[in-house]
Amino acid sequence: MRGNELSNATLEDISAHLDRMVAGREFRVSEVCDVLLKKAVLAKTSDIHLEPTKRGTRVRYRIDGVLRDAALLPSTLHDQLVSRIKVLSDLLTHRRDIVQEGRISIVVGDHATDLRVSIVPTVGGEKAVIRVFSMHDAVFSLSEVGYSDDMQRRLKAVLFDLEGLFLLTGPSGSGKTTTLYSILNEIQREMEDFASITTIEDPVEYEFGTFSQMQVNRQVDFDFAAGLKAALRQDPEVIMVGEIRDVETGEVALRAGLTGHMVLSTLHSGSAPETVTRLINMGLEPFVVASALTGTIAQRLVRRLCPECVEPHELDPMKLELIQRLSHLDADAPPPEFFRGKGCEACGFSGFSGRLPIAEFLSVDEDLRGLILDKARTGTIRRHLLSKGWKSLFDDGLQKAQGKLTTFEEVMRRVSLREVL
Ligand SMILES: [Zn+2]
Repeated sequence: MRGNELSNATLEDISAHLDRMVAGREFRVSEVCDVLLKKAVLAKTSDIHLEPTKRGTRVRYRIDGVLRDAALLPSTLHDQLVSRIKVLSDLLTHRRDIVQEGRISIVVGDHATDLRVSIVPTVGGEKAVIRVFSMHDAVFSLSEVGYSDDMQRRLKAVLFDLEGLFLLTGPSGSGKTTTLYSILNEIQREMEDFASITTIEDPVEYEFGTFSQMQVNRQVDFDFAAGLKAALRQDPEVIMVGEIRDVETGEVALRAGLTGHMVLSTLHSGSAPETVTRLINMGLEPFVVASALTGTIAQRLVRRLCPECVEPHELDPMKLELIQRLSHLDADAPPPEFFRGKGCEACGFSGFSGRLPIAEFLSVDEDLRGLILDKARTGTIRRHLLSKGWKSLFDDGLQKAQGKLTTFEEVMRRVSLREVL
């Protein structure tokens, strides 16, 4: 199976093709591996899982955030398959008892795609998970990210100041990198004559070639903090740091934000209000946080309804009651309408096609500065914002579900009730 044949094949075709290859014994493990990797890239897979199970090697692709079976191969092939992946990623084939990490670059169509390999020994054999970094056809612009118009407008007002610290938060796989890249691209496009941009990333997921991007290298102690300090010596207007995970990086980032730079980064926290308290809990000074932090976004990715087969869908009364109780939207609004994807050929009968973010955005104003100085708790900040008509992650999700973009169930799958209440 090559070229066009491969690109038009469905997951079921690939499965059947591999079954035939294996049953006829007319294959090489390297070919099976090649088909699995290339098909994953063509199917816009974000992760490939190769897992030893009692029934055989279960191969699954994560597409639009959901794991789908791609093949079940005989157990006898498992070690050979993992070995082949190790050879491609320069790992030790003779060691099957250690955790190993490596990378593979494969060419599919006209593009080289980067694959990050992780191999972990389990009791049933080695499990391989391969992350696919394929952003070649990605468009990095804020209008394409999927934020509401109102949020885009308010976000640009904060960003185009080119000052202070701006943070993004969300679990892994919530589209933070795409958003950061879109922000940088937008700044680059709008303010090219004013802004010099530098990034410190781990890993560099997409090379723009239009601004400076640095790769973290822990083997030579070049971490986020070291990269940030090095970048500051060259006095750029905008710096993107992959993640703030320690006090040192946090301190340098805040200080840079206070001295006329704009710093963009991510932080591990559940919600936009929690991001604020998280900085204080890390040990950063409240008055520095209050003056340097300009805003934060918390986001999750939900599956987008297929526009070809979307249809109205009545929610059961229990869910409607839950919405009434949790929603911070206008109480006088008409009863909410929801939708689902019936499933059609265009979406592979899944009812969904691609993903979009649901998000909450918080900009730090005078009131909020006061709350930060008082070391207010997350709940207090949240209640303050909601009393001013703020739209939470749940509200944004609900709005998108009512706007035929996603389902209520998708929103509930991504927003934990702890963050809503
Ligand atoms: Zn459809």
